[in-house]
Amino acid sequence: MNQPFLAERIDGKGFAADLVERLRDDVDELRARTGHTPGLAVVLVGEDPASAVYVGAKHRQTVAVGMQSFVHRLPAQTCQDQLMALLDQLNADPEVNGILVQLPLPAHLDANAVINAIDPNKDVDGFHILNAGRLATGQDALVPCTPLGCLMLLKDRLGNLAGLNAVVVGKSNIVGKPMAQLLMAENCTVSVAHSKTADVPALCRGADILVVAVGRAELVRGDWIKPGAVVIDVGINRIERDGRSRIVGDVAFDEAGHAAAITPVPGGVGPMTIACLLANTVTAFQRQHHLALQKAAVAV
Ligand code: NAP
Repeated sequence: MNQPFLAERIDGKGFAADLVERLRDDVDELRARTGHTPGLAVVLVGEDPASAVYVGAKHRQTVAVGMQSFVHRLPAQTCQDQLMALLDQLNADPEVNGILVQLPLPAHLDANAVINAIDPNKDVDGFHILNAGRLATGQDALVPCTPLGCLMLLKDRLGNLAGLNAVVVGKSNIVGKPMAQLLMAENCTVSVAHSKTADVPALCRGADILVVAVGRAELVRGDWIKPGAVVIDVGINRIERDGRSRIVGDVAFDEAGHAAAITPVPGGVGPMTIACLLANTVTAFQRQHHLALQKAAVAV
């Protein structure tokens, strides 16, 4: 007999829309107080179609929230020196408060060197080594957007996370590692699983909070999930099913009805990522102007 699906579907799309509304007020307040409008520069090298779609979405949402958007599209054969020269220019431009270089870069470019050439105070992706170090040592950092969005959803659902067992599956620099750092900063007891972990299902079964960022469709089965756990599914996987192409997460959603709550894919974590990019740009502007907001959408 099928078990009833009792888990709450965490509405990341709605949460992100509310956050963007509040950020619009922040942008208005910052403009009124400084005479400047926060600005985000996005650099795209090459013609990767998925990257072009992401950059287009970032541009539209940046403009929609009332910020300035500067999109730099460079040809695929751009050399390292040309890209570094553009970053120098953006670092020095007072109208640019946030800088993002869309990844992946073409193979001939050194992505680490490019990321570390961004002014860390404008590094709204939070990938600069200084921001990674600040996050790891509990200092004010610009935090990678996807794990920041996951943490917001978790705190909204659970409030105080202290003492909870958290398992993060995946240890990428973009999602898994910063997610684990953020959960540690909330005083969770954190385990990180990866491709060499001996028994991932057993580890997951102990999790009050389970964050999955692997990139393998429906890897996490229902019996990996502890009853009452809160599950955050970061994965985005395109699969063919019943003759149709569809997007699924890293968790078998239909088997997770005994969780307390779970993010759907799509409509869960995905929309939070761009909203947090806009939030980070507002945070960067505030810090560059040494300002606190009356009622900030995100505490800095
Ligand atoms: P990634 O860099 O490929 O990292 C994947 C991680 O999963 C690695 O740490 C890998 O372990 C681990 N892994 C692979 N197979 C595993 C297995 N069988 N069991 C346990 N761990 C395993 O991926 P990513 O950039 O973090 O992205 C992960 C997923 O999130 C992708 O689907 C991506 O599209 C999605 N994503 C979504 C958003 C969003 O906005 N919603 C943002 C970013 C990423 P090793 O380190 O040992 O190789």
